[in-house]
Amino acid sequence: MKGELCAEGIPLKTLARKYGTPLYVYSAGAFSSRFQELKKGLSSLDHLICFAVKANSNLAILKHLAKEGAGMDLVSGGELYRALEAGVSPKKIVFSGVGKSADEMAVALRAGIHSFNVESSSELVLLDRVARKLKKKAPVAIRFNPDVDPKTHPHISTGLKQNKFGIEKSEVLAIAGSIQMLRQIEFKGISIHIGSQLTSLAPLDQAYERTRELIEKLNRILPEPLSFVDLGGGLGITYKDEKPPEASAYCKLILKHFGPKNRTAPPLRVLIEPGRSIAGNSGVLVSQVLHRKENAGKDFLIVDAAMNDLMRPALYDGFHDILPLEQKLNRGKKTKIDVVGPVCESTDCLAGDRRLSNELKSGDLIALMSAGAYGFSMANNYNSRPKPAEILVKNKNARVIRKREIYADLIRGERF
Ligand SMILES: *Cc1c(COP(=O)(O)O)cnc(C)c1O
Repeated sequence: MKGELCAEGIPLKTLARKYGTPLYVYSAGAFSSRFQELKKGLSSLDHLICFAVKANSNLAILKHLAKEGAGMDLVSGGELYRALEAGVSPKKIVFSGVGKSADEMAVALRAGIHSFNVESSSELVLLDRVARKLKKKAPVAIRFNPDVDPKTHPHISTGLKQNKFGIEKSEVLAIAGSIQMLRQIEFKGISIHIGSQLTSLAPLDQAYERTRELIEKLNRILPEPLSFVDLGGGLGITYKDEKPPEASAYCKLILKHFGPKNRTAPPLRVLIEPGRSIAGNSGVLVSQVLHRKENAGKDFLIVDAAMNDLMRPALYDGFHDILPLEQKLNRGKKTKIDVVGPVCESTDCLAGDRRLSNELKSGDLIALMSAGAYGFSMANNYNSRPKPAEILVKNKNARVIRKREIYADLIRGERF
């Protein structure tokens, strides 16, 4: 439709009228093309693309990506439950995270997942013990902390040595030296993940180089050479005016270090764990303007979406572009305005000082762009607000993939 925002040809306004607001809308085609770009870039390698479930954990999204050939990267037993419910093959599942419990380990071992990304010696010892009880072997990649600065927001940086993630080089080498004492552990790979929303390849280049050096050292110590490397996620997207690397350039960098032409390392299977780069720009959050008001010379647009629906702005200054669904509301005079939600917190500001049309008023619809990753998956019920519905548009067909919550959902499980 001309002059209005659409998802795969369906006007968002039509969806908002039918399903109400706030409303998450995703494009299946967008998910597919982002995934296929990565798949194409790595086609010359034995590879596995594990979608980071925490970015968007809706069952329909997981199932859609699994059909395209994706595996999954998990950070909790709850995510394992989701991935298995969505029909993902356990052989394509990797389990990351600094704090796996014995119960989570047991469920994953019984399911027969591809590997655990282990983040401490203590975790390795526990995993060995749980595996022995179940008479299973535990395939493991040690998460290496390469100590590089990803130059991203400090709250989403994970690869510096002061971060809680991963294990430093000397300790990884020490673990390798004594790995035979942990009889159930199969030390098969190294994993890294240096941060999220990376907009330059330089820190990855450095991290890959250190990882390759470490793998060569380990192969001299270990009884059997490592069989895979997991390079994590982190590729950035455009929220505002960032110019993140293209998927093809990102894959070329991977090939430079781990590709078939690189003869210094033995052939390794390469895993990646993209979340944001697949999901971020594949979805939006549609919201309705409730009120417009002015306080001491400052203008506010109060909308029906809030920090509980989309937490990124409050949590780490996340930026989401705001577009009126009807383009005619993009013309004319604009003023700087704060777009805020109804939640009783001053941090419930979805967008500060945005230049938006003076015409925007009660009842008008807007889209918070780039909300497909870390949007609904972070949504919560603060202020006893039911979570929004989620819609997936695929081949001109819009389908509810999560019902809007009702008040009864809010008190389920409570007793008095
Ligand atoms: C969050 C996370 C990812 C995904 O990161 P994106 O920036 O969304 O690509 C991948 N791997 C691990 C271990 C993570 O914690």
